[in-house]
Amino acid sequence: MNLPPIDSEFLLRFLTGLLNTPSPTGFADQAITFTETALGAFPGLSCNRTRKGGLVVSWPGQMTSAPRALTAHVDTLGAMVKEIKSNGRLKLTKIGGFAWNTVEGEGCTVFAHSGATIRGSILLTRASGHVYGSQVNDLKREDDNMEVRLDALTTCVEETRVLGVEVGDFVVFDPRVEVTNGFVRSRHLDDKACAACLVAAIKSIVDAGLQPTQATYLLFSNYEEVGHGAASGIPPEVTELVAVDMAAVGEGQNSDEFHATLCVKDSGGPYHHGLSQRLRQIAETYQIAHKIDIYPFYGSDGEAYWRAGGDVAVALIGPGVDASHNYERTHQEALLATTQWIIAYLLS
Ligand SMILES: [Zn+2]
Repeated sequence: MNLPPIDSEFLLRFLTGLLNTPSPTGFADQAITFTETALGAFPGLSCNRTRKGGLVVSWPGQMTSAPRALTAHVDTLGAMVKEIKSNGRLKLTKIGGFAWNTVEGEGCTVFAHSGATIRGSILLTRASGHVYGSQVNDLKREDDNMEVRLDALTTCVEETRVLGVEVGDFVVFDPRVEVTNGFVRSRHLDDKACAACLVAAIKSIVDAGLQPTQATYLLFSNYEEVGHGAASGIPPEVTELVAVDMAAVGEGQNSDEFHATLCVKDSGGPYHHGLSQRLRQIAETYQIAHKIDIYPFYGSDGEAYWRAGGDVAVALIGPGVDASHNYERTHQEALLATTQWIIAYLLS
C-alpha cells in the first residue's frame, strides 16, 4: 500500500512563513493565527482556540471508537525585558531553556506593549575587543552580562521609555531562515518544523480525498518551552497522543537530519511502549526513514499532558534537528519522513 503524496513545496513554504512569524512563549498568538489561517483552506476541519490560546483542530474520522490526538508547539525560545538600564540598554530575562552564547550577536526585535517595534542586537555588556581585551572571552554569559543595544537614540532610562519600551516587553530573536540544498537552517525549527509536518500531513490526506481512520484532534500548543503546553487542550475522549517534536542530534545520538526519530525515553522517562511499538511497525511497513533514540536533556508536551493527569498512551516522533536550542538545522528528508509517519499513523 502506498501513502498519498506530500506537497513538499507547500511544506517548505508554510514552514518558512511560520519561522518568520515571531512567537516566543507567552506571545505566540501570531503563529497560532498563521496556522489557523493555513488550516482554513482544508474542508472538514474545525478549529477552536483554547482559553489558554492554543489551537485545537477537530477532524472527523471513519471511526470514533478510539479517538487520537497529535500535538506540536508553535511557541519558541525568546526573552523579555527585565530592566531598562541606566545606559538606556535592556537587561533581559530568558523565556525557555537556552544558553546566552547561542544568541550572542543576534539581531532582535523588541515588541513593546505600546505597539512599537524596535530593532536591536543581543550583546555582551563588554563587547568591544578593543576596549575590554580578554574580558570579551572571559566574561561569563549570564543575565547580568548580556544586554540589548537598541537601534534607536537613547542613552538613559527616560529616552528608552519614550521609545515605548517597558519592563515585560517581549524580545524576539531573528530566525535567519535559509533553505539550501534541502537543508533548512533557522532558529526555532523546534518545533515549527513539526507544526509544518502536521499541516502538510493534513493537506496530503485531504488532497487524496481520504479521511483519518479514527476521529482525530490536533493541538498546536503555545506554552511548551516552559513545560506546560499540552497540559490542557487534549479532549477527554482521546485514547492516545503522539507528540511531534524535534529529535536531538549530537555525539552519541542515533538521530540525524535525514531521518525521523521515535524517542523511547527522555528526561521524563520512557514513553508508552505499546504505542511506540505500533509506530515502529508502521515505519517499517511503509519503509519510512527512521531511527530510534533517547534524548538526555529533553521533555515534551506528551509528558506535560501525562503530568497534568492525562490518561492516554503517549509516544514521541520528530525530525532530527542539529544544534537544537541554538542556530538549528534540519533537512527536507527528515521533514518528509516525519510527515509520512504522521500520514501512515492517521490512516492506520
Ligand atoms: Zn520542542
